[in-house]
Amino acid sequence: SVTLAVLTSGGDSQGMNAAVRSVVRVSIQLGANVYFVKEGYYGLIEGNDYITKANWYDVSFTLNLGGTIIGTKRCMEFMTKEGRMKATKNMISLGIGNLVVIGGDGSLSGANIFREEWPSYIDELLRKGEIDEETSKKFDHLNLVGIVGSIDNDFSGTDMTIGADTALHRILEAIDSIVSTAFSHQRTFIMEVMGRNCGYLAVKSALMCEADYLFIREWPQKLDWPDKLCEHVQRARKYGKRLNIIIVSEGAVDLNGTAITSEMVKNVLVDRLQQDARVTVLGHVQRGGSPSAFDRILASRMGAHAVLCLLEATKTSEPKVVCLNANTIEHQSLMKCVKSTFEIANAIEQKDFDKALK
Ligand code: ADP
Repeated sequence: SVTLAVLTSGGDSQGMNAAVRSVVRVSIQLGANVYFVKEGYYGLIEGNDYITKANWYDVSFTLNLGGTIIGTKRCMEFMTKEGRMKATKNMISLGIGNLVVIGGDGSLSGANIFREEWPSYIDELLRKGEIDEETSKKFDHLNLVGIVGSIDNDFSGTDMTIGADTALHRILEAIDSIVSTAFSHQRTFIMEVMGRNCGYLAVKSALMCEADYLFIREWPQKLDWPDKLCEHVQRARKYGKRLNIIIVSEGAVDLNGTAITSEMVKNVLVDRLQQDARVTVLGHVQRGGSPSAFDRILASRMGAHAVLCLLEATKTSEPKVVCLNANTIEHQSLMKCVKSTFEIANAIEQKDFDKALK
C-alpha cells in the first residue's frame, strides 16, 4: 500500500489543521499509510520522534483549531543538499515515497527543489551501499503535492489560499470594534494589515469597512499622497463623518519605492489637520483564532484532493499544487505556479503592473 507523509511549513495559517486532518482521514479511508512530520522540514531532517504514524483519532477535534498542531519551523538546513539528503534517508527508512507539503511559496519552492533532486540522493545512497538495488528502484522518485496555507492569498493559480478568509474575519472584527470608539471620539484610525506583496487583505477589508483611504504595494501612491489624503479626509469630515478609517498594507510604497508606513500616515494627519489619529497594527492577531467555515471546508477539500493526486501519481507525474478555481478544487503544476508567483512578486517589485496583472 501507498505510504505518505504530511507536514506544515513556513508561516502558519488558520485551517492548516483541517487540511492535515483531511489528508490523514482520506488516506486511512483509502487504505494508505500516513505519517505526521512535526515542525516542518526540521522534523523531516531530524527524523525519529518527529515522524510518527498517524491514526484516525489523532486528528479528532482539530478542525476548529487555528495554527498548526503538528508545528512549523523555519529550517535553514533544508536549504542545503546535506539537509535534504538526511530528509530523504529518514523518509526511505519508513517507506515514505509520497509527501504533502502545506505551506507558503517558500515552503513549496523548497519542496520542488527536494523533489527534483530526490533521484540524485537515491543514487548516492545506492552508491554508498546504504540502500539496496530493490529499494532504490522502489523509491526512484518522490511524489509531491503542495497545498497553500497563507493568510496573504498570495499564490498564483488558486483563487484562495488556506487562512486568507479567516484573516479577513479577524481584521473586520478588529475594525468593527474600533469603529465604535472612533465614532465616540471623532478619531481617525490607521489600521495596518499584513500582505507584503499582495494587497488582498487590505483591499477586501477596505471594501468591507468603508475605509476612506487605502495604501497597498500594487498601487504605489503618487508623491503628493499626503495632500490627497488630507483633502479626502477633510471632505468626509465636512459632510458630517465622525471618524475615518485608513487601511495601510505592510508593503505599501510610493512611486519612488519608498515605504509608506502607518506612522507616516498618522503624522500627516496629526501635523496637517491636527486630527486625533491613532495607529493599530493588527500583526499576528490576523493569524490567530479558529478558522472560518470557509477555510475549514476549503482545507478539507484540498487535503482530500491532495491524497487522490498522490494515489493516482505515476513515475512520470510532475508535482502538483491543489487549487481552488471557480469553486472547483483542482490541481495544477507546482513548478508553473511557483514560477508565476515569483514572477508576479518581481513584477510588482519593479512596478511593472501590466505584467503582474497578466
Ligand atoms: P513560507 O512557506 O511561509 O513562504 P518560508 O519562505 O520561510 O515560508 O519557507 C519555509 C521553509 O521552507 C524554510 O525555512 C526552508 O526550510 C524551506 N525553503 C524555503 N525556500 C527554500 C528553498 N529555495 N530551498 C529549500 N528550502 C526552502
